[in-house]
Amino acid sequence: MRRYAMLLAALALSATACSGVTGDTTTTSASTTTPVDTTASTSRVPSSTTGPSAGLTRPPDPPARTVGIGDEYFPQLGNPGYDVEHYTLDLVFDPEAARLGAVATIEATALADLDTVNLDFTDLTVSAVFVDGAAAGFTAADEELTIAPAAPLVAGEGFVIDVEYSGTPQSTESAAIPFGIGWQTVGNQHYVAAEPDAAHSWFPANDHPLDKATYTFRINVPEGVVAAANGTLVDRLTDLGRVIWVWELDSPMASYLATVVIGDFEIVEDPAAAEAAGVPIRHVLPVGTTVADWPGLERQGEMLAFLAELFGPYPFDNYGIAIVDGLGAALENQTLSLFDSNLARSAYFEDVLIHELAHQWFGNSVSLGQWSDIWLNEGFASYAEWLWIENERGRDQMEQLIATERDSYDGAGLTAPGVPPAFDLFNRSVYRVGAMTLHALRLTVGDQAFFEILRTYAMTFTDQSATTPDFIAVAESIAGVALDDLFEAWLIEPKVPEFPNG
Ligand SMILES: [Zn+2]
Repeated sequence: MRRYAMLLAALALSATACSGVTGDTTTTSASTTTPVDTTASTSRVPSSTTGPSAGLTRPPDPPARTVGIGDEYFPQLGNPGYDVEHYTLDLVFDPEAARLGAVATIEATALADLDTVNLDFTDLTVSAVFVDGAAAGFTAADEELTIAPAAPLVAGEGFVIDVEYSGTPQSTESAAIPFGIGWQTVGNQHYVAAEPDAAHSWFPANDHPLDKATYTFRINVPEGVVAAANGTLVDRLTDLGRVIWVWELDSPMASYLATVVIGDFEIVEDPAAAEAAGVPIRHVLPVGTTVADWPGLERQGEMLAFLAELFGPYPFDNYGIAIVDGLGAALENQTLSLFDSNLARSAYFEDVLIHELAHQWFGNSVSLGQWSDIWLNEGFASYAEWLWIENERGRDQMEQLIATERDSYDGAGLTAPGVPPAFDLFNRSVYRVGAMTLHALRLTVGDQAFFEILRTYAMTFTDQSATTPDFIAVAESIAGVALDDLFEAWLIEPKVPEFPNG
């Protein structure tokens, strides 16, 4: 993600703006050292031998658990008792009324014996739930949809949940950033920007990057309206004056990266960029515009080839961006990054094109194991901006730019990138001092080892999740030296260190 305000060198949004949510994110940290508890999603419902009467649905007890998948910064997010393999989101959307009717089909495997299953979900109204085709009881409270299958689920076995729901999806508050995220309606454009914790405001999910899954989106809209999503457009079915746009994403994705983009758009293929990139490039552009109307965008394929050379093969089947109004930022939704239209017209467009593209490796293919390690996403994507500058203007100019920026952060009183405040996860230090951390590593181990570290890390954790210790372990194994002092100084200590002599 890049915030437009940040790019305009505005100070990060003030701490007072965030104070209202501070308590929410810090009061429930009693289990800071609690590892993932695979029993937490099993219910307090007694495993009664009498059970429900056949044909009746059994309402579960109210949610008694507050422990999620084990993220210190988001204690309620995610659920550890099962693993989702695939989401199918059947969405019937009325753009005029901004109203959604939906069925989410969730294919998962139980990791423990489960009397109940919890999904993260809020804001929209659930009308029915089925488990393996049988009606199931449910309660919705505290951002949890608690489902009681007619029969308990057995550890190691697969199951399928269908959730029918409807409502008007809306922007929602985040515990981690002081502006609304999730479903956005801006004029006649509708799109989703859900990082970090708003996926469950528009579909029921195991809403944490630790449980990645593949996706099918079937978006039913009136004829003339375009509906895009992550992945590849595999079908477009007409149905009584409406069109169902079917998108498939075959690579596992963290829930916060799931998106739809609905409205007056065009899907624009860029064959020249695809040839340079070696993968299909398709964009979702405001109707009537082409790649040529967004100067800088014509370099997207070249940028992809450049990063693939440095980071290893591009991890997904295709790429492109969607340009929308009113986002105030850019966000690296998997295979379909979102860009604010004003940002796409600004002098920063190329920097942010590289930034969001770099996230496809670092953040999307290699996901976070915990949100406090957000520098693994943003520091890496920000460093890619400097790599592009190095490519365009040479190493000396890049070094000068980094040195100047380092001095501007020295004494600025920011938290170190490895310990961001839970209520201001995307602060400038995470991006810029996070990127400097990688530069310090590069100066310490040399270019050859440095890029081998990045490639090995990207390859080792493809389609998985990683933590800061995972990255340090890769770096140390390739460099052959202990690096804990370096990472401690850059990621944890409050003072921004001096760069080592390269
Ligand atoms: Zn970013």
